[in-house]
Amino acid sequence: MPEPVFQPLPTVPDHPGLEEEILAWWEERETFRKLREQNRGGPIFSFFDGPVTANKTLAVHTAWGRTLKDVFQRYKALRGYDQRYQNGFDCQGLWIEVGVERELGLNSKREIEEYGLEEFARRCRDVVVWSSRELMRGSKRLGQWMDWGNDYYTFSDTNIEYVWRMLKRVHEQKWLYLGHRSTEWCPRCGTSLSQHELTQSGVYQERADPSLYVRLPLRDRALESLVVWTTTPWTLPANVAAAVNPTAEYGRRTNGEWVAVARYPGESFAERKPGSELVGWRYTGPFDTLAPGAAVEHRVIEWGEVTLDEGTGIVHIAPGCGGEDFELGNREGLPILTPVDEAGRFYDEYGWLHGLSTVEAADQIVGNLGERGLLVEAGLYEHRYPHCWRCDTPLIFRIADDWFIWVRDLRQPMLDANATVEWTPQYMGKRMDDWLRNMGDWNISRRRYYGLPLPFYPCACGHLNVIGSRAELEERALGGLEQLEELRRPWIDRVPVRCEQCGEAVERVKEVGDVWLDAGIVPFSTLGWQNPEWIPEGYATGAARGLTHADLPDHSYWERWFPADWVSEMREQIRLWFYSQLFMSVVLTGRAPFRQVLGYEKMLDETGREMHGSWGNMITAEEAFARMGADVMRWQYCAQPPDRNLLFGFGPAEQIKRELLTFWNSVNVFVIYANVDSFSPSWSQLEPASELQPLDRWLIERTHAFVRDAETSYEAYMSVDVMRTYVDYVDDLSNWYIRRSRSRFWKGERAALETLWYAVVQTLRVMAPILPFLTDHLWRNVVLDGPESVHLSGWPEVPEPDRALLAEIADVRRVVTLAHQARAASGLKLRQPLRRLVVEGAPGVEAHVRELADEVRVKAVEFAPVEAELLVKPNLPVLGPRLGTELRAVQQALQAGEFEELEGGRFRVAGRELEPDEVLVERSGREGSAVASADGVTVALDTELDDELRLEGRGYDLIRQVNSLRKEQGLDLTDRIVLTLPETEAELVARHGDWIKDEVLAVEIRLDSGLRIEKASSGE
Ligand SMILES: [Zn+2]
Ligand SMILES: [Zn+2]
Repeated sequence: MPEPVFQPLPTVPDHPGLEEEILAWWEERETFRKLREQNRGGPIFSFFDGPVTANKTLAVHTAWGRTLKDVFQRYKALRGYDQRYQNGFDCQGLWIEVGVERELGLNSKREIEEYGLEEFARRCRDVVVWSSRELMRGSKRLGQWMDWGNDYYTFSDTNIEYVWRMLKRVHEQKWLYLGHRSTEWCPRCGTSLSQHELTQSGVYQERADPSLYVRLPLRDRALESLVVWTTTPWTLPANVAAAVNPTAEYGRRTNGEWVAVARYPGESFAERKPGSELVGWRYTGPFDTLAPGAAVEHRVIEWGEVTLDEGTGIVHIAPGCGGEDFELGNREGLPILTPVDEAGRFYDEYGWLHGLSTVEAADQIVGNLGERGLLVEAGLYEHRYPHCWRCDTPLIFRIADDWFIWVRDLRQPMLDANATVEWTPQYMGKRMDDWLRNMGDWNISRRRYYGLPLPFYPCACGHLNVIGSRAELEERALGGLEQLEELRRPWIDRVPVRCEQCGEAVERVKEVGDVWLDAGIVPFSTLGWQNPEWIPEGYATGAARGLTHADLPDHSYWERWFPADWVSEMREQIRLWFYSQLFMSVVLTGRAPFRQVLGYEKMLDETGREMHGSWGNMITAEEAFARMGADVMRWQYCAQPPDRNLLFGFGPAEQIKRELLTFWNSVNVFVIYANVDSFSPSWSQLEPASELQPLDRWLIERTHAFVRDAETSYEAYMSVDVMRTYVDYVDDLSNWYIRRSRSRFWKGERAALETLWYAVVQTLRVMAPILPFLTDHLWRNVVLDGPESVHLSGWPEVPEPDRALLAEIADVRRVVTLAHQARAASGLKLRQPLRRLVVEGAPGVEAHVRELADEVRVKAVEFAPVEAELLVKPNLPVLGPRLGTELRAVQQALQAGEFEELEGGRFRVAGRELEPDEVLVERSGREGSAVASADGVTVALDTELDDELRLEGRGYDLIRQVNSLRKEQGLDLTDRIVLTLPETEAELVARHGDWIKDEVLAVEIRLDSGLRIEKASSGE
C-alpha cells in the first residue's frame, strides 16, 4: 500500500482538540503576522474595537461580539485589506471599583477613603491587569486575531488627556455648566447616574414596594382630609404639597376623605367639586411632627399632569425626592426638602429617622402613620423600578450639583452626522435618531474615585479654569507635580493650579467623569488626532505603562484611519458607546466617527431566560470552549439574525455539531476516494482540467453561486445569510452531487474527484472567517502545495454563475422532494421502484428526466397537468396580521372554492392576490396516486405495484442489507465478497443477479440456506 496522499479523517471531529492544535500551529508559523504582511499596503479597512470592561474573564456574551468582529476582519483580510487590529480595554469607573470594594469588603465611600485612595487606585489597576490578561487568553482561544500587546487601555494618561482636550473645547463653546437638579442616585455608590446609564439592560427590574394610602387632614375643613397614594414612604417626610388635576372631579366620602371621583366609580359622594376649587386648601403635612415638615405650609396646588390612571387622583409632592416634583416645585416656588445624604441616609434634623436608609425608614414611617391614624390602607405594589447598573441597589432621586454638557446646539449636528451612517439592522439607526431627538444634557460627573479626573478648577473669583492637557497642567501647577504618578485621584488632587483670571490658587473639583467619556474618545486618542509627531509607545502612559506597547501615532495616521469603516456592538451601546463616540466626534470634527454599524440584540439561555450566575444557567466561555469548541460557538453566533435575541446553549451546539458533519463527511468522501486513486491535486490547477460531465459543471456553477452569495452577505455584514447560503450549498454538495456521483468516485473518475476537490477548497476559503479552526485543519490536509493556511489563501475570485442552470437543478431537487413527500404520504418505502411520476409546473426539469427518474425511482416521468382536487386554506399566522378584518371574506371565498390559481403558487381570492407563503395548499390525487404540491409545482406519483416492481424492490432491500453487513463485518470499501442467499431468492438472482453483484462488490452469488457474506480471497 502506498502512503495515503491525505490523512484519513475520523468519523467525528474533536473540535476542542483540533482547535488547540491549530492555535499552536498558528503561533509557531506566525500565521497572523504573515497575513498582516501580505496585506500591508493594501486598501484600508478601518475598524474600531469598542473597549471591553476589564473586570472579568471572557463571557459567552462578550465572545459573541468578539466573534462578529473577528469574522468580518478575517473576511476583509482575505480580500487583501490592510487593518489595524487594535483591541481595547475599558479600565475605569464603577465596574472596576465595585470589584475591588467587594474584594476588600468595603461598603461605603467613607470606608474607601479610610482605606486610602492611593492603595485603592493600585488595587483597581491590579484588577485591570488580571482581567485584561484573562480576556486576551479567552479571545485568543476563541480564534480572535488582534494585535495583542498593542491594545489600548482607557486609563492611559494619554486617553485622559484627550478627554480633557474635548472637555476644554466644550467649555470654550460655553456648553459646560454646573447643574442643580434632581437626579437618579445610587445611595450605595453615593453618586448620581446619567440618563444613558439607565438605559442599560438589567436596570429596570420587577420589584415589590409598599403601597400606601395616606390621609392628610385639611386645616380649614373640620374632619375632612385628602387621601394621597405613594410607593416611596421615605419621601413622605419631604412632602410640601398635594397636586390635583384642575379639570378632574373630586368627591368627599361620607367619612370626610377627598379623592378623584373617576378613581372610585362605584362610590357615592357627599359632595363633589372640580379640582380647581380644591387648589389653595391647606392641610397638615404627614410629618409635621418633625422639624423640616413643621416649617412648611402645606397646600393643594394644581398640576395638569395628574392622571386618573392610578392612586387617588391627588398626588403627594416632594420636590427634593423626584425629578418631576423638582421641576414642578421650581415652577410653583415650593420649598425643597432634601431628607437624605449622599449615602441615602436621613439627616439629623429628621429626628427619630436620622441615620436610617430609605429602605430601613419605610417600616418606621408606616408604623408611625398607623399609630397616628393617618394610614388609610397599606399593601404591596409590583412595578418595574430602576436599579443601579453596577451594584443593583434600588435608585432614589436626590438633589445634587452635577457637571453637565449642554446639548441643544449639538442635537442637529449629531442627527446630521448619524444620517451619514449605515446601520444594520436599520431600526437601530432610527433608535439612535430617537435618542438624539430626546437626549437631555449629558451629566458627566460622578462622585467616585477610580475614574477620569474632571479637569475643572472653579475659582472663588467666579472663573472656571478647565485644563486641556498634561503640559498645561504642568505649566499652571503651583506644586505637587513631583508626586503625580498618574493623572488620577488621589495624586492629581494634590496639584493646585493658578487661576487664569485672578492668579489665585485653585483646586480641582473632586468629581470623576462618566466612563463613556473614556470610551468615546477612542477614535481620537488611539489614532493620534492633532498629535504633531509619532511617539513610539506613546500611548503606554500613566496606568497603561507596562501593559501595552501601543504607539501614539501622528495626525496623518488619524486622517488615514478616521472615520471607521465599520464598528459593531450590542444594541444597548446605541445610547452608550455609539452615542458617546458620536457625541465627541461631532464636538471635535463635526463628523460621524463611523460609516457602518452592525448592532445585535441580547443573549439569553437556550430556553429564552436571562443568564444569571445565581440561576445556574450561566455558561462560561471556558466551559463552552471545552464542551463545544470555538468553531461551534462561532457558528451559533453567526447563524443568529442580529435583530433577534440569541438563545445560546449546549442543546443548539449539539445540533450544530451534527450539521457540521455534513461538510466533514463530504470532505471525508474526497479523502477516501482520492486516497484509493492516489489522486493528488495541485493548487496551481484549482479548476478541474478534465472533461466534465453535466453534473460536474453544475457543481462548479453552484460553487460559484455560493461564493458570490456569501460575498454579498459578508459585504452586508450579515453572517446569518452567509450561514444560510452555506447550509443550502452543503446540502446540494452532499445530498445531490456526492450522492449522485458515488459510482464515479468509486471508479476513480478524475473529473468527479477534481470537481469535488474544487468545491471543498472553495468552501474552506469562504467559511474560513466563521470557522477558522476547522477550515484550516481541513485545508492543511487537502491542499498539498498551496498557501500553508487557508487564511493566507485570499478570497476566491469566481465568474458570475449560470443562474438559469442552477434554477433548473433547484427545480429538479424541488420535484424530488415533493415526490418523496407524496411517497411518504402513501406509506411506500423509498427503495420501492414505481411506475410513473407526473410533473406539473416545473418546465425547466424536462431536460433532466433521467436524473429525476433515477432519484425518485420511477420508470417514467411525464409532464402533464395533474388531476387533483385542490384545497386552499389561509396561512393564518402570516395572513392574519396582513389582512386584519378582511381575513374573514378571504377565508370564506377559499372555503367555497371561489379562487383562481396563478403562476408561481399564487392565488387570486376575493379581489386580492395571495403569495405562496400566505396559503396552505393540499391536493388529493385520484385513486392509485399520491400528490404533493408547493410553490406552484405539483407532482403525482403512481402508487400501484405489480410483481415486477415488487421483485426489483426486493433487490434494493437486499443490497441495503448486504451493505450494512459489510460495514458490520468491518470490510474495506474496496473488499470483494462472496454472497450467499437463501434458495427462495432464486428468481431474484436469475433476474437481477448482475446488478446486485455490482452494487455490493460480490464476485459470486451462491444459493444455500440463509444470508451471509465472506470476504473473497484475492485473485478469486
Ligand atoms: Zn450603586
Ligand atoms: Zn480666580
